[in-house]
Amino acid sequence: MRSLYIHIPFCNRICTYCDFNKFLIKNQPVDDYLDALIKELDMIPEDVIYTVFIGGGTPTALSNNQLERLHHFVTNRFEIASEFTVEANPDELTTDKIAIMKHFGVNRLSLGVQTFNNRLLKSLGRTHVESDIKRAVDDANRLGIESVSIDLMYHLPTQTLEECMYDLEQAVQLDINHISSYSLILEPKTQFYNQYKKGLLQMPDETLAQEMYEYTMDFLAKHGFHQYEISNYAKGDFESLHNKVYWTNNEYYGAGAGSHGYVNGKRYYNVVPVPHYIKAMKAGNAVKEVIPVDKEASMEEYMFLGLRLNEGINVLDFEQRYGVTFNAVFGTVVQRLLNEGQITFENNQIKLTNQGRMRGNDVFEKFLLTV
Ligand code: SF4
Repeated sequence: MRSLYIHIPFCNRICTYCDFNKFLIKNQPVDDYLDALIKELDMIPEDVIYTVFIGGGTPTALSNNQLERLHHFVTNRFEIASEFTVEANPDELTTDKIAIMKHFGVNRLSLGVQTFNNRLLKSLGRTHVESDIKRAVDDANRLGIESVSIDLMYHLPTQTLEECMYDLEQAVQLDINHISSYSLILEPKTQFYNQYKKGLLQMPDETLAQEMYEYTMDFLAKHGFHQYEISNYAKGDFESLHNKVYWTNNEYYGAGAGSHGYVNGKRYYNVVPVPHYIKAMKAGNAVKEVIPVDKEASMEEYMFLGLRLNEGINVLDFEQRYGVTFNAVFGTVVQRLLNEGQITFENNQIKLTNQGRMRGNDVFEKFLLTV
């Protein structure tokens, strides 16, 4: 059983740090986009889907009618076996929108909070303010959404450690069961990046970013949120099943402009921007590129996706999946990383240490077989 990601590439405003695949919703052919999207969804050759995630962009930038149309189609077309998540911006999440989602079986909301600090929210270009966050969470709970997650960001321009601590204190007071916390990375072609290049943006140094990360791990553990992935924390069983599909290198469909999927051992990528996607779907298919994932690439992905999870990877599972001896492929690199204290290796399970977690990408690179 596969998962399904559905992309809504529209936002009411463009955030200063954002390099996602998104467009200002104003003057966009949103209804035509939904026609195309629904056509693509209808072509999926399976009826039972493990998890569905509607993300963006911002799904809550859609009107109530548009949101209802999409949800109605998804729940009538597919049987969703477990998790049905929708991303939302706190100020756009009206009770009407929550009621629509609830009616069509959404059981998880992922709120783009980023920070509770109004000064920082403004600099990020977000449309919400601190008071919108608690209101949105309370409404979601009151209207019966089973699980609410929030996204936070740290290492923001001019942000102090105390401000990062304040965000975490506010977060744990909410009635939520999942927190994602990401370090801001300045991506090319964003407003922040351009400001930084011109010397107009003051970034906290890397040492402070590490302090924030360590504080986050420690603080959330003390408040009942166990870390299960480099940037993700959950209460009890409320880990994101959808994202775990990606991290365990399992297959999923992707629908919408610029989205991608992984099916039958091949990754596929849809056309973007929106008018091209609509035109392509009118002609019958929006797939721009299909790339078969060979065994070597799949083994690499298995390692660096799986190591993101705190439970790490299981060597016996790897050997069963790929029909090779683990040591013959990764024995040397594993020994080196063990010596450096970046990983542990016990009971056939390989995990990152805290030190390895902080240097995640450097560690993952070591598992590349083709460099
Ligand atoms: S709302 Fe999300 S997708 Fe839209 S611009 Fe902001 S960060 Fe990007």
